[in-house]
Amino acid sequence: MRNYDIPFNKPCLTGKEVDYLHQAVNSGKLSGNGVFTKKCHRYFEEKYHFKKCLLTTSCTDALEMAGILLNLKEGDEVIMPSYTFVSTANAFVLRGAKIIFADSYPDHPNIDPSLIERLITPKTKAIVVVHYGGVACDMDSIMEMTNRHNLFVIEDAAQAIDSYYKGKPLGGIGHLGAFSFHETKNIISGEGGMLVINDEQFLERAEIIWEKGTNRAAFFRGEVNKYNWVDVGSSFLPSELTASFLFAQLENMELIQKKRIEIWEKYFEAFQSIPNKLQFDIAPLPDYATNNGNMFYLLMKSKERRDELLGYLKGEGILAVFHYLSLHKSPFYKKEHGQRELTNCDKFSDTIVRLPFYFGLELSDVSRIVNLISIWK
Ligand SMILES: *Cc1c(COP(=O)(O)O)cnc(C)c1O
Repeated sequence: MRNYDIPFNKPCLTGKEVDYLHQAVNSGKLSGNGVFTKKCHRYFEEKYHFKKCLLTTSCTDALEMAGILLNLKEGDEVIMPSYTFVSTANAFVLRGAKIIFADSYPDHPNIDPSLIERLITPKTKAIVVVHYGGVACDMDSIMEMTNRHNLFVIEDAAQAIDSYYKGKPLGGIGHLGAFSFHETKNIISGEGGMLVINDEQFLERAEIIWEKGTNRAAFFRGEVNKYNWVDVGSSFLPSELTASFLFAQLENMELIQKKRIEIWEKYFEAFQSIPNKLQFDIAPLPDYATNNGNMFYLLMKSKERRDELLGYLKGEGILAVFHYLSLHKSPFYKKEHGQRELTNCDKFSDTIVRLPFYFGLELSDVSRIVNLISIWK
């Protein structure tokens, strides 16, 4: 792998991670659902008033748990944006569901709620929304519509930690929410994730699915006198090693978020102060949404210009990247999807440039990147 002067991502470390790993090792319990796992759960339940949280080994796992909880079966339909990460769809395909892809807004990669209703059929069971770059989808209109049709809403909040919709924390609005602590996200544990259960009806079963289909968690609380195989499930819980690392990050959430938002604002202001010769756009932030400093991206005018800009920055030792290829055109799913066009999604696949963004990124590096872009022809 090539070394860049300014890489795209560097894992964030705040200082206590290795200490807490030591503590976990010395505690004599390394498997899941121990002291650090409980500390992480409590942190989220207290800070965001999430009803129940379960750490998972990834956001992918949290989404797979959601698929099991909804009892999806062959032929059920799940509506979601095509402009998203593979796992958003794959988790439900594993249950036999058919994915019905919806388009994004013209000026933002989030799902356009006005396009959802026409895709609803008697087979539709759920809508998955993705808060792209941590920016909220229009949750009032989505929740109103799904209540009318009696559908479940799952928030893929992988990028949306500590971000809000009209003051409500993302991941806490739909029936279920899924977060990621992969090393490219704001808060990390290498690989890691969390399922948030907001709807009472899923509380008990979520814990069973999490614990390999057993009622072990209830057993350890003394609620049942032996634990048994009671449902389907898998091994979704992370070890205490992962949870201890994560807890060190959570204790420093405010510091991490402050720095990331500072970097975002530096990019934004620096781009305002140069002539926009390249005619790129910066996606708007709706009034109802907050910016959680998840990523900074430009919307270029064409795929050619996008690719040229990535090549130019690479030549300067800076790694910027493009993002999601439309899932409806993926080798795996294009036959299932058919010919229905999703032009906004395709446009974002062709034109987004994600600039380097990580906790340790120096503001002077941000200036350097923006200056280089300002002199590029
Ligand atoms: C990162 C990401 C995922 C996957 O998260 P993992 O923790 O790596 O499984 C899913 N959806 C979105 C939108 C993501 O950004």
